[in-house]
Amino acid sequence: MSKAALVVGSVAFDDLDMPSGNFRDVLGGAATYSCIAASLVSEPGTCRLVGVVGADFAEAHLDMLRARGVDTAGVERKAGKTFRWHGRYSQDLASRESIDTQLNVFADFRPKIPDAYRKNAVVLLGNIHPKLQLEVLAQVDRDAQTLVMADTMNFWITGEPRALADVLAKVDLLVINDEEAQQLAGVKSVAQAARAIRKQGPKRLIIKRGEHGALLFDDAGVFFVPGYPLEQVLDPTGAGDTFAGGLAGYLARTRDRSSHAVRKGMFYASALASFCVEGIGAERLLAVKKGDLDERLAAFTAMVDYGGALGFVE
Ligand code: AMP
Repeated sequence: MSKAALVVGSVAFDDLDMPSGNFRDVLGGAATYSCIAASLVSEPGTCRLVGVVGADFAEAHLDMLRARGVDTAGVERKAGKTFRWHGRYSQDLASRESIDTQLNVFADFRPKIPDAYRKNAVVLLGNIHPKLQLEVLAQVDRDAQTLVMADTMNFWITGEPRALADVLAKVDLLVINDEEAQQLAGVKSVAQAARAIRKQGPKRLIIKRGEHGALLFDDAGVFFVPGYPLEQVLDPTGAGDTFAGGLAGYLARTRDRSSHAVRKGMFYASALASFCVEGIGAERLLAVKKGDLDERLAAFTAMVDYGGALGFVE
């Protein structure tokens, strides 16, 4: 049975205006972050990247991903420029604005899934047009063991509600942030939103709450994983994609779709996201060693386990 995680989404160059300085031509893109994260927890060679880059995308970036065990055979190279995004963050990093988005070769991206990529343990549909997410699903072999994860954003929730509804009907695990959940459900309460969204298709829903962690809603109930309290955050870009990619990589490795596995995987995901925000772009994530991850996972355990059961003493 396949242990592969297929990741489809943007590969980009980002210009980042941060309180700590301005950074240009930073390797980014949702799929890039997701694959780097997945490769830190999955078996070598099992993370498959499907995306598009332009002629300006140095082969060295793909070499770097391959060296980490990411399979890049699904990355198409097209004449033209790579997708570019320019973001500016507030002083406290709590908000950001998109200064410029140049879709370039990403504008007419039509994901082509190589034959060798059809069987996967996990399919992670990154934040792309819902019609393209459906095209990806039409090209993969899906059986009872395949877990389909998806992300989306406000732009598609308001602009493409019908196509998005078709996607939701086919998704096992939707991973979105709290604002997106509120918008998708049309209610403010996160718990009410979760109930309404799960009625639209996804059996499981993870609502990411940035530094405040993430909530899982499924038939087993509600589960919470915190964000790691860092003393210094440098750049939140890609944290959500890192979370989703880390979880996808973990679930592909274990091939376990139980609620227990998803809950455990959320700790890996949150730990990886905490590394992501400690550096500009993916620099800190790329420097993570197994020992670093183990250490942070131990810190997570210590953070949520007080060493006994809960309940009033009679
Ligand atoms: P996040 O911080 O999780 O929203 O992810 C940021 C990454 O998403 C950046 O590296 C950008 O290159 C990429 N990105 C920004 N806008 C878009 C878009 N409209 N479609 C796809 N990817 C995008």
